[in-house]
Amino acid sequence: MTIYLEHWNLKPLEIPQRSRLFSLEPVAVGTPYTESLSSYLHRLAQAHCLTSQKLVMGEIAPLILIFEDKSELLSKNLSHLLGNSDAKPTINGMREMTAKLVTVLEELTMRQDLRFLTLLSWKGMIYDKGLFRNYRAWCPCCWEEWKQENKTIYEPLSWSFKDVEFCLIHKQRLIEECPHCGSRLPVMARFSPAGFCSRCYGWLGQEIKGEEEIEKYRVNIQGIGELIAITPKIGYEPIPIELTRKLQLILLVFEQAIGKDLRFLGDLQGIMEQLRIAAKQHQNKPYHLVKLIIPVCEKAKISMSQLFLANFKELSEILFENFGLNLHL
Ligand SMILES: [Zn+2]
Ligand SMILES: [Zn+2]
Repeated sequence: MTIYLEHWNLKPLEIPQRSRLFSLEPVAVGTPYTESLSSYLHRLAQAHCLTSQKLVMGEIAPLILIFEDKSELLSKNLSHLLGNSDAKPTINGMREMTAKLVTVLEELTMRQDLRFLTLLSWKGMIYDKGLFRNYRAWCPCCWEEWKQENKTIYEPLSWSFKDVEFCLIHKQRLIEECPHCGSRLPVMARFSPAGFCSRCYGWLGQEIKGEEEIEKYRVNIQGIGELIAITPKIGYEPIPIELTRKLQLILLVFEQAIGKDLRFLGDLQGIMEQLRIAAKQHQNKPYHLVKLIIPVCEKAKISMSQLFLANFKELSEILFENFGLNLHL
């Protein structure tokens, strides 16, 4: 017995906690090409050899509807459960259902980075109405290329935005209709394998020769990409009042720049008027991303990360330098 105890450790093994679902890693978090939550959900279902409908109804819905009558579940389908009607297609945005879905998925996969696949972190800062498309959109060249290179096929969050009309890499307009069956495809479908049509299951990747003129769309697309990329850095508690203060600072800098050199007037007048209206109307309510925040950054010659991540003092210094000012606030 003594010999036995010397050679065998009888203490029970410490087994780390296991996740109920695979802890599948989302693609490209922290970059402009971050995967969307809907894409992640579909890939997670595929990893378990399940349809998205089965995964949601079997594992996710019971946790989301914990206080509701379970028998009601049977009468619902995926679209109804996730509020995926034409009027509310924005599961990748900042809606209440998005937050519930993220919480449950993070619990089931034991991951902490799934909220960055949505715009949840920007709630209160960015106005989400009209920001997202009603249907899926994709760059066929990206998918064809990833397939050829054996890369993960997924949908970047940026493709959910209405103002991302082109792929900056391939200079192609994003496609919204299946070339095989002509259908427009819902963001959440019963079975939606990455890169395929959820109606006819045709492959949606395609090599296209030639490039389109995209320069006038570039600012918005890059701005949205940058916003997505910095999402993990802004943390979980955005403070809308800080953004309001920074926008007021930018307005002040614009006024000083014009005071110093009238040539700035023509370029800045329009955006200054918008900033004044926004400051008056919005107070601490969310701001319009494409109509206000992105053009303000462009005119102020700052990046989205400078606007959101620099503190007030750092931002002041950047702005003063950009406009050759020597200010004391
Ligand atoms: Zn592309
Ligand atoms: Zn199709």
